[in-house]
Amino acid sequence: MKITRISTHKVDLPMKEGAYSWGGQSFAAFDTTVVIVETDAGITGVGESCPLGPAYLPAYAQGVRSGIETLAPALIGADPRQTDAIYALMDRHLRGHPYIKSALDMAFWDILGKSVDLPCYMLLGGLLNPRVKLFKVLSRQDPDAMVARLREYQAQGFRKYQIKVGDDANTDIERIEAILAARAPGNIFAADANTTWAMHDAMRVVGATKGMDYYLEQPCLTYEECLSIRKHATQPMILDECMDSIDMLIRGRNDSAMDQVNLKINRLGGLTKARQFRDLCVSFGIYMTIEDAWGGEIATAAIAHLAHSTPEAMRVVGATQGMDYYMEQPCLTYEECLSIRRHCDQPMILDECMDSIGMLMRGRADSAMDQVNVKINRLGGLTKARQFRDLCVEFGVYMTIEDAWGGEIATAAIAHLAHSTPEAFHSQSSAFHEYTDLVIADGGPEISDGTMAAANAPGLGVTPRMDVLGDAVFSTA
Ligand code: MG
Repeated sequence: MKITRISTHKVDLPMKEGAYSWGGQSFAAFDTTVVIVETDAGITGVGESCPLGPAYLPAYAQGVRSGIETLAPALIGADPRQTDAIYALMDRHLRGHPYIKSALDMAFWDILGKSVDLPCYMLLGGLLNPRVKLFKVLSRQDPDAMVARLREYQAQGFRKYQIKVGDDANTDIERIEAILAARAPGNIFAADANTTWAMHDAMRVVGATKGMDYYLEQPCLTYEECLSIRKHATQPMILDECMDSIDMLIRGRNDSAMDQVNLKINRLGGLTKARQFRDLCVSFGIYMTIEDAWGGEIATAAIAHLAHSTPEAMRVVGATQGMDYYMEQPCLTYEECLSIRRHCDQPMILDECMDSIGMLMRGRADSAMDQVNVKINRLGGLTKARQFRDLCVEFGVYMTIEDAWGGEIATAAIAHLAHSTPEAFHSQSSAFHEYTDLVIADGGPEISDGTMAAANAPGLGVTPRMDVLGDAVFSTA
């Protein structure tokens, strides 16, 4: 298949609510570019790129069209279905300018999907998310007008909102307070400054709204400023404008700089690049807003959604500041838990991710936890659990000693390991046989007064009940 023609169109998308205002900017319409790619197979693809005015990102509408005009001659005759190959061809003829390539790349994916008679989501990984959750933007206005707008959107069934701030800190604090006070059950809010606060403004807002339950989004222009604010905020942090490459994503992950990123298709350079970025976010456990800078039906059709993890933990940590409880394994991966740890003033217990001595050493080097859960079968038996325990004692790490689950036999092993652990390092254990009436062995640890003790007998001190165990599933001799 070969590209035979590329046509570029300009359309103004007017705002039905009058104006869209954020940071220091306001527009009544957005100039969008639609590109139509024709092929010798009779299949036509369509793509769109809308930069949200000329000063939101380093991108502007005339630039999209001018760039397509520059690139198009090199693309005539190329096969649009080979999305990575044609992307490399675009990179050879125009360095950078991802927002220009985004419209073309979107059209290439459209053609690929049509050529195999499948929706694009099938080619991007499959239908993992059948109903894509939406957020509504509360465009920057006076606080009362924003609350009135919120009530309209609540009545329309929306639950997720972005509060546009970034004007002056005093009014922004009022905006956040007024809108959070009008929260309906299940509403989630993000305050998005779109890069426009100076650091001292952002710190004033963060200080004045400490412990309030909302997400803080791209407070300042640069990554470094946002990272500095992140270290003082009790809210989950969303990075948006500065997340413009996979390098930035990896840097943000290494610095625990954010709980969520906004993935804008034309900022990254189209679906090909956005897919790579998205897949890394999934691997890293980073929650995403998937969107574009702006656009109409075509750009919106290219926006998909995935889900998962750290923002919820940061919300809980922010809302329970100073409360006296232990936080245990909030997220799936060690890295996510470490990120939460850095903002949590509760003692941190790591459990599921503490599956080897290597992880214990890593957690110790990062000061990632105050306590670990030692599960005998996760570590590989008493021999390994004993090594792990001995290192915890050396390192001053408090322990829960237990197993994933079991009956009298597993519990007896727990009791023996706990009995031989210095009391000062032992937090607690589980007696699993207490949870069931089925007895699989006699001589299980005796329980009284919220404590247990192993039988004072040789070995584990338990004798299996063969009538309960029944015939062997297999027997090797
Ligand atoms: Mg944003």
